[in-house]
Amino acid sequence: MTTAGEQTPHISRRTARLELRNVTKSFGKAEVIRGVDLTVEQGEFCVFVGPSGCGKSTLLRMISGLENVTAGEIRIGGDVVNDVPAAERGLAMVFQSYALYPHMSVRQNLSFGLENLRTPRGQIAETVEEVAAMLQIDMLLDRRPKDLSGGQRQRVAIGRAVVREPRIFLFDEPLSNLDAELRVEMRGEISRLHARLGNTMVYVTHDQVEAMTMADRIVVLRDGQVEQVGAPLELYNSPANLFVAGFIGSPR
Ligand code: ADP
Ligand code: MG
Repeated sequence: MTTAGEQTPHISRRTARLELRNVTKSFGKAEVIRGVDLTVEQGEFCVFVGPSGCGKSTLLRMISGLENVTAGEIRIGGDVVNDVPAAERGLAMVFQSYALYPHMSVRQNLSFGLENLRTPRGQIAETVEEVAAMLQIDMLLDRRPKDLSGGQRQRVAIGRAVVREPRIFLFDEPLSNLDAELRVEMRGEISRLHARLGNTMVYVTHDQVEAMTMADRIVVLRDGQVEQVGAPLELYNSPANLFVAGFIGSPR
């Protein structure tokens, strides 16, 4: 069990503010992100919700650097990163599909690529052990992904993001492949991780319950635009319109 007060000797607490300024994305003639303006504060747990196809993944991919922006500006820690390669943005992304390396052990999956980052070589093994213990996968370090359950695979995928000491975590529907019970357990796990590390987190989901229970603030997206931003109860009690009310499940 991890708690907010616990020490993480090998993982430093890193965080940064994220700013989107009039961000637009077109694929050919289709404008799928249309002038998004948003600030995510340092250490904030910000959830993007909206129906399938509204642009959640595209927004996240632009923040991470996997996709170029067509117009507008993305700033991390005050610096414009539009032209900064993904690997140099100080972020880590967790996907629904886990994206683990099938031929590598859990230990190798966690340490892969660390050699190229800041971590001194001798410290990598200790960092991996610490993160594995944090996520309760320390007994699985010598297994291959195929010998893990879905929940364990997602813990490894999250661990792989944690060892990189990102300033900002990006999650793209990380729990969608899990059954209802595991989703509840992993929600708690990710919330504890946030309390412990204090990173900025941007979490994409189409699940209203996840958004309501995990978010400091929710960003409701519709057709590539921000419909409303607010704390969960603000959106629930004062939805800007029927779309937000319907999506958040408030009684208006
Ligand atoms: P969400 O994650 O909210 O379901 P996406 O960001 O995946 O939505 O997609 C938003 C819109 O952009 C959709 O209409 C989708 O078809 C389109 N889209 C996403 N990626 C591409 C791409 N590489 N080429 C063309 N259209 C794309
Ligand atoms: Mg998506």
